[in-house]
Amino acid sequence: MLPVLAIDLGGTKIITVIINNGQVIAEERCLTLADEGQQSVINRILSTIDHLLKNTDPSQLDSISLAVAGAIDLERGLVTSSPHLPGWHDVQLRDMVREKYRLNTFLLNDASAAALGEHHFGVGRGINNLILLTVGTGIGGGIIINGRLYNGPCGSAGEIGHTTIDVNGPSCECGNIGCLETLEKIGVAARAGDSLALDIIAEAGTCLGVGMVNLVNIFNPEMIVVGGGVAKIGDLLLDPARQVVKERAFQISARAVRIVPAQLGDEAGVLGAAAFALEQPR
Ligand SMILES: [Zn+2]
Repeated sequence: MLPVLAIDLGGTKIITVIINNGQVIAEERCLTLADEGQQSVINRILSTIDHLLKNTDPSQLDSISLAVAGAIDLERGLVTSSPHLPGWHDVQLRDMVREKYRLNTFLLNDASAAALGEHHFGVGRGINNLILLTVGTGIGGGIIINGRLYNGPCGSAGEIGHTTIDVNGPSCECGNIGCLETLEKIGVAARAGDSLALDIIAEAGTCLGVGMVNLVNIFNPEMIVVGGGVAKIGDLLLDPARQVVKERAFQISARAVRIVPAQLGDEAGVLGAAAFALEQPR
């Protein structure tokens, strides 16, 4: 199989790699600078690709795969919208890249990509039923069932941050109320160290645990992987979540699931984007 060029477009940075047989052979990082607008971000992506391809003929690549922090229309290859990329609505990113480089090009959501990344290269290797949560300024999710990414017919599966965990909770930017994401957000503001922050982290962990109980009861996963910036807090956040799952989830499923921190850090998405490309029929 030829190498894949993969890109992870996040709200703060763009990571681009060329990956060959599971090994990163070239990598470049730059800031997204999303406030400069859509065209400026797209130009930055294209010039990063050009730079990485300086010594490689595009015909030596299998494909290009883009993971984007936003809602994706998988079939049409659109970035539908993104809370992290102001002004992006129905952007034809896949076809723009495909036409420029004349290569098979794929586009998927970054949390879905991160789930695939951890499944292929990280803590979830060999685990065929896993759910990944990226806990940062929001909560993203990716679902692997029987070793395959589950997208749903619209490509919008895995919006675990917007599962309701409090019917009377605060309102969320998605239009619903009491979403997991709104209840966990207080935890993001917390700074580890003082006792108030520890209480807030424990509270966030408990909310996260309630969200996980729903996942465990629905999917009976072998593993729930927690990544994203907030995951660096580690067991301070995960222990309360594990406790809630143990107490409240269906017992046979609660015993089967391991709740673990992600392993690949900020490379999970870009590695997963490459894995996604390699999984596609051709
Ligand atoms: Zn919501």
